[in-house]
Amino acid sequence: MPFMKAVQISSPGGDFDLVEREIPEPEEGQVRIKVEACGVCHSDAYTKEGTLPGIKYPRVPGHEVAGFIDKVGERVTAWKIGQRVGVGWHGGHCFQCEPCRRGDFTTCKNRKIAGASYDGGYAEYMVAPQEALVSIPEELTATEAAPLLCAGITTFNALRNSGARAGDVVAVQGIGGLGHLAIQFANKLGFKTVALSRGKDKEVLARQLGAHVYIDTATVNVAEELTRLGGARVVLGTAPNAKVMADVVDGLAIDGKLLLVAGSSESLGVSSMPRSPIRDTCHLSSTTTKRIFSRNVSNVNPGLGQRFVPQ
Ligand SMILES: [Zn+2]
Ligand SMILES: [Zn+2]
Repeated sequence: MPFMKAVQISSPGGDFDLVEREIPEPEEGQVRIKVEACGVCHSDAYTKEGTLPGIKYPRVPGHEVAGFIDKVGERVTAWKIGQRVGVGWHGGHCFQCEPCRRGDFTTCKNRKIAGASYDGGYAEYMVAPQEALVSIPEELTATEAAPLLCAGITTFNALRNSGARAGDVVAVQGIGGLGHLAIQFANKLGFKTVALSRGKDKEVLARQLGAHVYIDTATVNVAEELTRLGGARVVLGTAPNAKVMADVVDGLAIDGKLLLVAGSSESLGVSSMPRSPIRDTCHLSSTTTKRIFSRNVSNVNPGLGQRFVPQ
């Protein structure tokens, strides 16, 4: 029986253990991927710490996987051996439940998460359901492609589905794993791109990545600064800090949106007394003109493109 190296979490809260395992065999409807690169995402902590319900251990984390198909199971017709593919957070769906029958695979009631529901990409090989795969173009190296499978998809789809158009002011809050990609996408999508971060440390990087404006949120009133720019059509919150996210709300333009793609367990304190004119719309608990959308956590929708769901 051939073996491979894998890094697994043996029990909730356990360390990363480098182990030898049997190379897995794809079952019906699955493919085996020879992993070339796997990104490290903060959400891997759910698998490491056991904070997602239902994870069985030992479990191999990793949901930013880039590689090529090494073997296909029965009834796999859309994918071929040797094809370059990736797997992200969305690790499969059932095609049977109501959301699936609506074509909304993102919210499948029986969804699978790569690296949590089954073993992920911290290994030389992994097996994935065929519906979880995306193809990777030749122009991208595996290491370039891997982070796009979660951090990239999350920010790209948030921005392209935000309703913002070229020329609109779009602010990216936080310049980390998500934010450094979001700034590049925002610039390339033609937005007037504003980077928001505490301190001056990230300014040079933010401007190199394509930010037209940098706002140091530690020293200025960020809402006032955004308002001075005409108000943000979209603020993409990528750092899990509820206070910082709440602070930007008054910097939104009328009908602007705050998109939250970084989870925080803190509650979001937003004033119900808006500073800008009130329109008779109400979204979520907000009575302001602003619209606040929340990221659906498993927001990859292969085949239809990923989209964000207002909650
Ligand atoms: Zn992730
Ligand atoms: Zn389903």
